[in-house]
Amino acid sequence: MNDIRIDDLPIRDELKGKSPYGAPQLDVPVRLNTNENPYPLPEPLVQRIAERVTEAARGLNRYPDRDAVELRTELARYLTKTAGHRVGVENVWAANGSNEVIQQLLQTFGGPGRMAIGFEPSYSMHGLIARGTGTGWISGPRNEDFTIDVEAATKAIAEQAPDVTFITSPNNPTGTAVEAETVLALYEAAQAAKPSLVVVDEAYIEFSHGASLLPLIEGRPNLVVSRTMSKAFGAAGLRLGYLAAHPAVVDAVQLVRLPYHLSAVTQATALAALEHTDTLLAYVEQLKQERDRLVGRLRGLGYEVTPSDANFVQFGRFDDTHGVWQKILDRGVLVRDNGVPGWLRVTAGTPEENDAFLDAVTELKKELD
Ligand code: PMP
Repeated sequence: MNDIRIDDLPIRDELKGKSPYGAPQLDVPVRLNTNENPYPLPEPLVQRIAERVTEAARGLNRYPDRDAVELRTELARYLTKTAGHRVGVENVWAANGSNEVIQQLLQTFGGPGRMAIGFEPSYSMHGLIARGTGTGWISGPRNEDFTIDVEAATKAIAEQAPDVTFITSPNNPTGTAVEAETVLALYEAAQAAKPSLVVVDEAYIEFSHGASLLPLIEGRPNLVVSRTMSKAFGAAGLRLGYLAAHPAVVDAVQLVRLPYHLSAVTQATALAALEHTDTLLAYVEQLKQERDRLVGRLRGLGYEVTPSDANFVQFGRFDDTHGVWQKILDRGVLVRDNGVPGWLRVTAGTPEENDAFLDAVTELKKELD
C-alpha cells in the first residue's frame, strides 16, 4: 500500500505526471528567491493587528462578513489614492491572495472547453491555475528583450480567440512594466475576436517607475486589474489579493467564490495593514532604490540586466544557468532559476542582503570571465 503514487489514483488525466508549483524553501543565510518584501512589519502595525484580531476573535463563533465590505471599502480608498482613478467598494473584490483572485476569474470566465492565453515567460501560476480549473492554456510569444511582441500577440489572440488574456505588468520573472498602448491593443484584439476577459496582473505595480493601468478599467467592462498585499505591503503571509473592475465583474465572481472565503482574522489583519499604508509605502521607496542599485551594479560588473519595474531583477546571460545558480547558492545566497534559458532572477532584499549577493556575483564574474 505504501508504494501508491499520485498517478495510481483516479485523478484527472490532465494532472497526471505534473508537479506542484514551488520555489525551493532552503535554509540559507540570504534568501532572495521569492520576491518577498525583506522588511518585517513595523512594530506599531504588529500591535494594531493584535488589537484588531483580538476584537475579531470575540466574534469567531459567527461567520465573517461574506462580502468583506469594510475591507473592500478600504482597498478602494487605497486604490483611489495611489492609482489616479476613483474606484468604490462596488469595483473591488478580495480573496486569499491574488492567486485565489485569478482562480475565481478562471472559474468564472474560463473552465472546461474554454482557453486562456499568457505571454511567456511570465508568472507560471496563470497557466497552472488555468489547468487546475480545466481551462486550456495557450503560451503566447514575447520579443527577444522580453517585451510583448504586440503584432504577434494580437495575431495569436485573433487566431485563437481566448476567453481570458493575461498581461502581467510588471512582468514576473523579467521585471519590465507593460505600456498602456500595448494593453489597449491586446484588449481591442481580444474583444474583436469575441467578448472575453483581459486580466492585468499588477502584483508588483507599487515598485514600478510608471503608473498603474487601473484607469483603463473605465468604460472597459471586460478589463480587470489584479493586485496583492503580498509584495508592497510586505504581507505575503497574510494571503490577501484583490481586483478592481466594473461592478458586474465583482458580481460575476460571486458565482464561484466559496461562502465566507475570507476569514474574519484575515479581514481584520488586512484592515490593520491598510491603516499603515504610508509607512509600508516608505519601505517600497527604499526597495526601489535598492532595486535600481542592483541593476546599476550588475550592469557595472558586465552582466546583462532586463529593465526592472519590480522588486526583483532578471540578470544573465549564462551558458550553464543552473550551474551559476548553484555557485551563487554555494556562496550562501539563494536566487531563482525560473527556467528562462540564460537568465536568473534576484529579489531586492535589505541593503546587507543585496551586498552579500553583489559580493557573490562579483567573485563569480572573475570565475566566469
Ligand atoms: N501575480 C504575480 C505576477 C506574482 O508574481 C505573484 C506571486 N509571486 C502572484 C500574482 C500571487 O501573489 P499572492 O497570491 O501572494 O497575492
